[in-house]
Amino acid sequence: MGTVVHKYGGTSVGSTERIKAVADRVVRQCANGDRVAVVVSAMGGETDRLTALGRDVADRSIPREMDVLLASGEQVTIALLSMALIQRGQRARSYLGGQVHIRTNDHHGRARIEEVSTERLHKDLDQGIVPVIAGFQGIDESGNVTTLGRGGSDTTAVAIAAALEADECQICTDVDGVYTADPRVVEDARRLDQVTFEEMLELASLGSKVLASRSVEFAGKYRVPLRVLSTFEDGPGTLITVETNMEQPVVSGIAHTPDEAKITMAGVPDVPGVASRILGPIGRAPIEVDMIVQNTGGDGLTDFTFTVKRDDYERALEILEPVRLDLGARELSGDNKIAKVSVVGVGMRSHAGVATRLFDALAAENINIQMISTSEIKISVVVAERYMELALRCAHTEFGLGEGAGEGRT
Ligand code: ADP
Ligand code: ASP
Ligand code: MG
Repeated sequence: MGTVVHKYGGTSVGSTERIKAVADRVVRQCANGDRVAVVVSAMGGETDRLTALGRDVADRSIPREMDVLLASGEQVTIALLSMALIQRGQRARSYLGGQVHIRTNDHHGRARIEEVSTERLHKDLDQGIVPVIAGFQGIDESGNVTTLGRGGSDTTAVAIAAALEADECQICTDVDGVYTADPRVVEDARRLDQVTFEEMLELASLGSKVLASRSVEFAGKYRVPLRVLSTFEDGPGTLITVETNMEQPVVSGIAHTPDEAKITMAGVPDVPGVASRILGPIGRAPIEVDMIVQNTGGDGLTDFTFTVKRDDYERALEILEPVRLDLGARELSGDNKIAKVSVVGVGMRSHAGVATRLFDALAAENINIQMISTSEIKISVVVAERYMELALRCAHTEFGLGEGAGEGRT
């Protein structure tokens, strides 16, 4: 008998039919004698709908109230799933984040979990009651409702699993595991039996939304055994593991991020402090900056380029126009139709020439690389958005990731 945490995402609880199917699945697991705690997301599309409602009544962001609004999505699903379980003769009890003391810091909309109290959960589990916990939400020190950021239910599940010292945290979703690339974009993407925490963290932070990056970080830190698997069909899914000694492929997976934008300030004086004068006001906005490139010309001037999320593009340009005037820079320009494609693999550490292979493969398809950034286990390139899917497929093929490739790989 073990303790298992199940997390069901938006599609998995997207209708009452699906909630009933999830209840059947939980009942089956309980029948094995396992102690099961469940974390659920809001019904698919609900968080988007609530966000739009909030934006409709106020044109400036009001983070505290937005969190109260968004947290209501998960309140619906915990109640419905608990009712469906009770209907099946399985004892269950729903909990909002605050009711099981998922205590976070006070950063509304992007709160971090600091503490989870397990007293009530253990009590239920010991009595054969399934606690059904609202994902994505918590409560700060002053009792305000907070949310963890999009995809945050994954993080709630891992935090609950860590606190309960569960045998496994199972992220049940609408795909049957982690694939070599998003299977909705790359047709011959292949399910991985295993992927290391390190690689999964890169993939998640570089755009693979199958797991929220914060949840992977948390699972790695607290050594929570984490598995991604299908809600709808049985199968082993993908286990996220600590690194093994087996022969690692050079590239394990490819992630992509659409909805990016780049901004260039051209003809900036090449003197100390310029980067901070440009990026300072952006950081304080706060707008998140991803890649940064600075080219020095021979004439004492430089071009400074960086990328932001597409949603922040207009605002970033507005903030920078006065900075441009102040610096006497020649031009402020940008492109909000770019995307990032990244190849990831711990095997890169022991293989040279991965970047060249990627660049050659993209060149063969006539895809222009606009920016490049690398780390020990990843190479990211920025390309025009219209080439994103082609770049993704082309890199996937180049590194032999498709179905039928890489016999015996895990
Ligand atoms: P949930 O609502 O269950 O949290 P998400 O939509 O957040 O589900 O995540 C699952 C989706 O992640 C899949 O439908 C798939 O399109 C996408 N995805 C992106 N990259 C990958 C990948 N490498 N492997 C599997 N799925 C991926
Ligand atoms: N409902 C939230 C979202 O849509 C949290 C989650 O599903 O993980 O982002
Ligand atoms: Mg998700």
